[in-house]
Amino acid sequence: MLEFLYIKNPQCPDLPLHDHIEVLDRVDSSLECVVSNVPLQGAKRVGREINFLLENSAQSPLELAQSLSLLYEVHGLQFDFDSTKHTPTPEGTFSEFFSYNKEICQYHQRRVECCGKCSEVCPTQAITKLDPQIALDQGLECEDNRHLLIKHQACIDCGQCISVCPSGSLSYASFSLECMQEVAKLYRGYIPLLLDHRADLPLTPLKKEVLPLCVNLNILEQVALLTLLQESGSQIVLYAPQDLGVGTLESIALLNGIYAQLYQEEAILLASDLASLQACLQRAKCLESTHFTPPTIPARTKRDLFAQRLQHAIGQGDYGRVPSASFIRYGHIEINSNCTLCLSCVGACNTNALSIDGNTYTLLFNPSLCTTCGYCEATCPEKDCLHLERDGIALNPSYSTPKIMAQDSLFGCKMCGKPIGTTKSVQKIAQMMIPRFQGDARRIATLYACPDCKVKIMLEDMLDINSIFK
Ligand code: SF4
Ligand code: SF4
Ligand code: SF4
Repeated sequence: MLEFLYIKNPQCPDLPLHDHIEVLDRVDSSLECVVSNVPLQGAKRVGREINFLLENSAQSPLELAQSLSLLYEVHGLQFDFDSTKHTPTPEGTFSEFFSYNKEICQYHQRRVECCGKCSEVCPTQAITKLDPQIALDQGLECEDNRHLLIKHQACIDCGQCISVCPSGSLSYASFSLECMQEVAKLYRGYIPLLLDHRADLPLTPLKKEVLPLCVNLNILEQVALLTLLQESGSQIVLYAPQDLGVGTLESIALLNGIYAQLYQEEAILLASDLASLQACLQRAKCLESTHFTPPTIPARTKRDLFAQRLQHAIGQGDYGRVPSASFIRYGHIEINSNCTLCLSCVGACNTNALSIDGNTYTLLFNPSLCTTCGYCEATCPEKDCLHLERDGIALNPSYSTPKIMAQDSLFGCKMCGKPIGTTKSVQKIAQMMIPRFQGDARRIATLYACPDCKVKIMLEDMLDINSIFK
């Protein structure tokens, strides 16, 4: 099978194309290839951007040859990363356009409802929520707290669920975030023009710096867009003649807010018709100083990737705050001094925003990892202790720096000194139990002892109880 196939475009018949692109004068339906510039039965992918660029760009033949080489690479990468599953059934083959990781989902198995955004935006009920109450109302069975029901057959590949998912539980199979990390690097020094992967491509003059990318626009969220912004070192033009999903719209607003405060520039120029597209293409420019490629990109969460890129842009500056929206939400938590360090909140948090340093008995919070799901707030057993504020992103280094929320020391058994818990948790239990022990000094003393010494306290008659309380 050929890798890259170029069927000559009558408007640019002779281009000095690179050797790895096979050139033919006309379509040969028997050929198989990975990427072709025209629809072909034997082509795994069609690079629609290729002829679009040839027919609209102001680039010279040499520049076009270089750009075409990049566009073939863009599609080669998408082919390599594509993990879409195709399942044959008696009714025909259906595709799983996205994958779902329930381990980091903010709805799955939680005692209270903390998310479900994907089901709210899904137009076809391909994703729905199920909890005991919904099950009761609909005559279904639900044997656990709650979980999502996913029917891939009902999915119309609109992509809206991908951009609203705060945790990265949902990943678009044919253009994942990992794929975007690599594709975006090919746009270095160009102005990316984002076009819908299915819509007709517009006829519009493109200045030399513009390089198109056809994608499902509704999957684009803050991480994918910031990746493309920083890797290209440029503003982005996004052409959406049809309505965009709420996740993409709110992500664009968030990034435009951040760029306005950091660089006094727009990040993404959004065009909804041909006239505004041409105006945006004229206005768009490279922002060389914004270029950034992280040194290494190991497997990281969606929030973590965003934080790494945003932190680079912020540096040591302080640029105020950008607000949260209704689906793309950011914020922070506050913990009051009545925290007993019981660590219920750490157990509830599946994003690692809350963590514990076991060496210093310190409860830490990293705002950049927090999805503001609120499960920690619902889980904290203390009254008026942990509060969540969905107040957006603080554009300063504190956004991605773990902050000490509560600290404690180890409490040693009053008899043998062996650690039995944190001081606050021992005091909390003692506070609850002492009234029940009605002044029984022996039983009260057991509250401050390790399991072995508890037995001794209760059994040894000669023990000087008062010495334990010293
Ligand atoms: S891609 Fe669209 S139709 Fe499919 S599950 Fe997501 S929101 Fe629903
Ligand atoms: S949007 Fe993401 S985190 Fe929220 S319920 Fe759906 S899959 Fe889970
Ligand atoms: S810190 Fe709380 S609100 Fe933030 S992600 Fe963790 S559980 Fe959710």
